[in-house]
Amino acid sequence: MTDRDPLHLHPLADKLQRELEERALGYGIGTTLIETYRDNSGQMEAWLKGRLPDGTITNRGAIVTWKKPGDSWHNLVWPDGTPCSLAFHRAIRVDRAGKIGLLGFGEVKLDPIGIDMYHILARIGESLGLRSLASVGDYTHFEVRGHGTLEQVKAALLSGVDIVDLRKA
Ligand SMILES: [Zn+2]
Repeated sequence: MTDRDPLHLHPLADKLQRELEERALGYGIGTTLIETYRDNSGQMEAWLKGRLPDGTITNRGAIVTWKKPGDSWHNLVWPDGTPCSLAFHRAIRVDRAGKIGLLGFGEVKLDPIGIDMYHILARIGESLGLRSLASVGDYTHFEVRGHGTLEQVKAALLSGVDIVDLRKA
């Protein structure tokens, strides 16, 4: 099951995903939070979308991640195991012939205009300091960067140091 609970985001990621929603709305772009934390089995399930188990890509459009379990900013946890993902997905809502849907999902196929819209959403996210993966085709993904490598952040979180303190160090 896909986790879209904002409580499973690190507070900084949650703050930024709300700011992204608001700033995008200011440009007339409505978005929906569609994913937050992934545990390791969820990450593997996500990684297998559009791929065979050996990694061969069978459907590029179905790719939702480039990271294996443990290697993703979605997989972070506090020392007690509570999720604190530093990555999230926000999808753009569009109205196609009176049908509201998420761009690139289900019936609402991603067309060239939709791709441009995601690149605009990416720029809005980048203006907030978020890293977008739109340039590699992971259009709805955003992550909080600037606090060290994933390994450094993981080690810090597990030793009880918050990433906000890492930036000061
Ligand atoms: Zn992601």
